[in-house]
Amino acid sequence: RALSRHGLQVNYENRTYSVSLQSVNAATAEVLLPEGFPVEAKAFKQLANLANIRHPGGGCVTHTCATPDFHPGDAGVAIGSVVQTKGMVIPAAVGSDINCGMRSHVVDLTLEQFLQKRDRFVELMKGDYFFGTRDVTMTAKTSRALFQYGIPGWLDEMLDTPTGSFVKSNFDQLSGEIDRVYLGGSMNGAIKWAPEELIPDEGVVRDGGLGTIGGGNHFVEIQVVEAVEDRATAYLWGVREGQLAFTIHSGSRNVGKYIGGMWRDLAKAAWPKGYPYPDYRLFPLSVEANPELVRNYLEAEATAANYGFINRLLLAELLRLRLREVYGDIEAPLVYDLPHNITLGEKRITHGKLTKEDLWVTRKGACPAHFGQPVIIPGSMGATSYLVVGKGNQAFCSSASHGAGRLKSRFEMSRRGAIHTEEDLGLIGVDCITLREERRIEEAPAAYKPIQPVIDIQVEAGMVSVVAKLKPILTFKG
Ligand code: 5GP
Ligand code: MN
Ligand code: MN
Repeated sequence: RALSRHGLQVNYENRTYSVSLQSVNAATAEVLLPEGFPVEAKAFKQLANLANIRHPGGGCVTHTCATPDFHPGDAGVAIGSVVQTKGMVIPAAVGSDINCGMRSHVVDLTLEQFLQKRDRFVELMKGDYFFGTRDVTMTAKTSRALFQYGIPGWLDEMLDTPTGSFVKSNFDQLSGEIDRVYLGGSMNGAIKWAPEELIPDEGVVRDGGLGTIGGGNHFVEIQVVEAVEDRATAYLWGVREGQLAFTIHSGSRNVGKYIGGMWRDLAKAAWPKGYPYPDYRLFPLSVEANPELVRNYLEAEATAANYGFINRLLLAELLRLRLREVYGDIEAPLVYDLPHNITLGEKRITHGKLTKEDLWVTRKGACPAHFGQPVIIPGSMGATSYLVVGKGNQAFCSSASHGAGRLKSRFEMSRRGAIHTEEDLGLIGVDCITLREERRIEEAPAAYKPIQPVIDIQVEAGMVSVVAKLKPILTFKG
């Protein structure tokens, strides 16, 4: 517990930074960090700032916490922040990467079988992910269903159209997997928030972004189940030692960017006149001051979130189809799909109508980790990733880390003059497939904290327990 109501001292590179929390109202903050991996003071400042946000018209922060992959964020909100708000929401706390998340499948193939036809498989996947050989054409109707209803409504609509033959041919499996997606992959969206070019009145929609990984550290990774530590849970989830797995890290692509950006402006425009701007311009929206605006924001965020769920589903389905094409009939069932950038209603005091007593939890680079819920915590393209099970730890708003967390910024990794050997970068033995050579450096294993202490401390704190470990085989980076 590094942070208290009264302030905090952070030692970093022999300097001490003070972060004052004196003006924090009811908010408490819980921070959990592995020893020996300093976190930049900036991250604490960002967290303290988040904890301080209140709306003059009503609404405040009631609790904040940081998961052990905590590090500064570019947009004023630290990655690994969880914030519980009462009577208000903070669109900028989610930002524009709405419903970024992780999705894992297991595959009944041995590593040897996979490697025998690896090259052909990789060529096909490069086509789908990078060169547009995939066909994810939607009709105007299916595209609308996608935004409005998310996975279930979209699947039903796909059955009814001339496009989307791949969904039709695998409809039973896809619909059988809905309950392994957080919230069933379905939130209350609305067409009016979607980018106009994706919701024509009729005809077809060719969306160049749907079914693509995206840049940065988004990835699709083939892995091997290296060890199972909780046999009973692994059995329930269909996970066995020696199986292959694949994990997808992606979000709502340009749709989230569009909707997140739009609401950054709308929240600013709605800020009451005469009051000083909150630091980093993280403008909250108050239920008491303007319930309609809060309702609209949640609906807009849900619209982008639905797109994120379907984007990950499509990335997985494209891969599953190619596995079948190359390796024969392979089931490759879903283990779980969950978001780590999202606002979720925590407690509704009244039904239907919003009230100033309503609570929300916004997770920025943090996973929900309710009791018994699967959680995916990746390490890096050169380190173990973990399948863990949530413990519903209340001090952390039932959350867990969504990764190991960055140690060095992209800028630091790619800075001119920084001479890195492949060994220093941790890239020996890493099979990274990308069209951008700089990704290997920016996203090299050395850019991330070691995953083991990050997991250990969360197990110790009763946030999660380990089910299985996944070792990377090859990683596609957008
Ligand atoms: P974020 O959502 O904040 O962008 O990153 C999520 C986490 O993914 C990072 O903290 C890091 O631990 C992990 N990660 C980044 N790149 C890779 C990769 O190529 N493979 C795996 N397995 N994990 C990665
Ligand atoms: Mn993302
Ligand atoms: Mn992410």
